[in-house]
This record gives sequence, structure tokens and C-alpha cells, in this order.
Amino acid sequence: MNEQFIAAKEVLRLLEDAGYEAFLVGGCVRDNLLGKEPADYDITTNALPNEIMKVFPRTIPTGIKHGTISVIQNKTVIEVTTYRVEGNYEDHRRPKDVQFVSQLKYDLMRRDFTINAMAMNRKGNVIDYVNGRDDLRTGIIRTVGKAEHRFEEDALRMLRACRFASQLSFSIDESTMKAIQKCKSYANHLAVERIVTEFEKIWKSRQPSKGLRPLLSTNLILNMPPFHLQTTELNITEVEWNNLDFFSTTLERWVYFLYLIFRRSENHQPVCSKDLISILPKFKFSNHDKRKIASIITLIDEWDITITEEQGKLLLLKYQLNAVLMAEQIWEKITKRKSHLPLEKWWKQMPIHQLSELAINGNDLLRVTGKVAGPWLKKTLQYLYHQVVFGHLPNVTKVLEKEGGKYGAGLTS
Ligand code: ATP
Ligand code: MG
Repeated sequence: MNEQFIAAKEVLRLLEDAGYEAFLVGGCVRDNLLGKEPADYDITTNALPNEIMKVFPRTIPTGIKHGTISVIQNKTVIEVTTYRVEGNYEDHRRPKDVQFVSQLKYDLMRRDFTINAMAMNRKGNVIDYVNGRDDLRTGIIRTVGKAEHRFEEDALRMLRACRFASQLSFSIDESTMKAIQKCKSYANHLAVERIVTEFEKIWKSRQPSKGLRPLLSTNLILNMPPFHLQTTELNITEVEWNNLDFFSTTLERWVYFLYLIFRRSENHQPVCSKDLISILPKFKFSNHDKRKIASIITLIDEWDITITEEQGKLLLLKYQLNAVLMAEQIWEKITKRKSHLPLEKWWKQMPIHQLSELAINGNDLLRVTGKVAGPWLKKTLQYLYHQVVFGHLPNVTKVLEKEGGKYGAGLTS
């Protein structure tokens, strides 16, 4: 038994000893029944937030307004939430407020899908009002209650359905699918951050194609910011969709997916960077990821299997091996062609791969030339860098000082 589970069971016991009801609930019950290790353990109870805080010596009022208290038990954080139902929904997004209720059943019925609407007591007995266990057994994502109504309340649930389909390799129930088809325009109101978070979970899952297929077939994707800026119809084949499962990292999956969504056809060559680079900031990626994604997309757009060794090595210097290999792999999947460029061989042939590895720096050059700093300095360093990269000079300080001194002296500023 892992530490979190032990701590969660201890929290259940302490709440019961204090006279309250308490259950494991949601994702951890689902994962437990599937024999998977839950990411975290959530507890639901009829104790009110201030009562929860009285039972445990160490608590953090994380989301006290919504009834959530983080309890620190055996050095582990367990979220404990009072039974609640949601208040009014505005703009098909999260509700503004919540109401505490006294019965577990109401708390379970407000949850999104049957497989997420089960509770488990300390002894391992499952409380299931919605046949969640049957849906778990048959691999079905089905809303609790009428799907249209549940998607109208909170449009994110449509994307969550796709996310769970990917994570669990489940299918979306037919009437739930029809409701996505009907309700997709509500997704216009969702915050990009919530959408990106769900996508991140899809990329980390075993079978992204499983959830992306309904996203595409219903056109839900085109109703979600920032994708809704894309006006044309998507034209993505089944094979291309399935290719998503072939890529293993989140970054590759993002890039391939964005490529499929934003590509255009120019001179029979798929091109994507034009629209995408301008829209990329809307995804709110970190600056590091944004730069990397933009680089790989540009590389794919400009991929040329006829480049010379020198051009290839310059490309490797500019983007580094990892990004170039990633671009090559994605380019091959998109064009269904083989690139056959000896990228790794070229990389190994180059003695250094970054300017910082050069055995001389700007200060050394100032010293040996006696000149004041200016544009010549950068030019000289670049010259030496390329000489070393292409094997014309050894990466040895003395040699580079001599050659740099000569080259730098010849430059005017
Ligand atoms: P994960 O393993 O990815 O954390 P999870 O099922 O725990 O999956 P969470 O987003 O952590 O998902 O939500 C916890 C529980 O809260 C869900 O299992 C579900 O019962 C409920 N829930 C979460 N989001 C919603 C929503 N938008 N509408 C209704 N119920 C929700
Ligand atoms: Mg969770």
C-alpha cells in the first residue's frame, strides 16, 4: 500500500471517529477499481470546513469557500471536501458558488461521468448510484444525468470526456457523443488555460487518438479557443490521427497535433508556421516551450532532404540535435516519406555544438588583440566557432588566440 493511501485511510478513520461520514471519491475510486495507482486521493465528508479543521491538527484552507481543506496527515496532503452541489453556472463554465449538502448522494450526482461518481468507504465498500461500475467494466464514458444538460452547465466536460477516453482507452457513450455534437458551441466560452491543461493530460495518456477522434469528428475542436480562430474545415485522415499514439513525448504530440490543425498546402508542400506562429502565444505555453515548438514547426516547413553536409551541420548548430531529429520524425509522418539525412553522424563529427564550448571567449580576444569591444568581436567568435565545428581548426586556446588575433585585427570595428 502506498503512503498516500495509508494517509487517506487514516483521514477517513479520524473523521469517522469524530462522528462524521467520510469516503474516498472520484478519480481515486475509479482508478482503484481499475487496479491502477491513483494520482491522488480525494475525500468527501458531511463535516463542514470548520469542523474538518477541528478534527486535524495540521490543515490548510486551500479552497475553503468551495468546501475544500487540505489535511496534512503522515506528511502527505489529502484534500477533504464537504458534500456539495454546485450553484449557478455562468457562460457554460465553472459555477460561481457552491452549496453544502448533508447527503453523499447529492455530491455524487453533481459529478461529471458515471465512472467518476463513485465513493468508497474505509472498508472498501463502493457506493454507486449511477452504475459507474458497469461503465468501468465495459469501458464507457457516460455523463451522470442528461448529457446535454451537463454540457450546458459546464462545457469543459465535453473535453474531459475526450480526455478520459484517451487516458483509459474507453469509448464515449452514444448519447453523450450526440450531446457533444449539439452542445459544442458552448466551448467558445472556456478559458484557454483549462483547455491546455486537458490537452496536456491527453498527451500524457496511453492513447491520445482515442479522445482526439471524437474531438475531431464532432468538430468540438473548432469551437474551443484558441482553435476556433481557425475557420476552415479540418482535413485529417484516420491514419494521421492514429499517428499521435506513435509519438511518445508531450512536445512531439503537441507539435504533430498543431501541425495537423494549422497546416496549409502550398506548392503541394504542407506548411503550418504562417498561422501557427502568430497564434502560439494564445496557448500560454512557457517561453521555453513556445520557442521550441516554433523552431520545430519552422524546421518541418523548411525541411529539405537534399541539403548538403554543411547546410545540415549549420541547421544542427542553430536548432540542436534533439529538435532537428524531432522535426525529421514528424516531417516523415506528415509527408509519408523518408528523410535519410545522416543527422546523428553529422552531429558526432562536429567537435563542439555550442559557442560556450569554444576554448576561447570574448575577454581572451580583447586581451590578445588589445582592441576595444565592438561588432568585430562577435564576428570573430562566430568565425572561430565555425572553423572548429567544421574541423578546420582544433579547439585549442593557443591556436584560437593566434587565429582570432589575426582575423580580428583585420576587421575595422
Ligand atoms: P485525474 O486522475 O486526472 O486527477 P480525476 O477524476 O481525479 O482524474 P479531477 O479533475 O481531479 O479528475 O476531478 C476530481 C473529481 O471531481 C472527478 O473524478 C469528478 O468526480 C469531479 N469533477 C471534476 N471536474 C468536474 C466537472 N467539470 N464537472 C463535474 N465533476 C467534476
Ligand atoms: Mg484528481
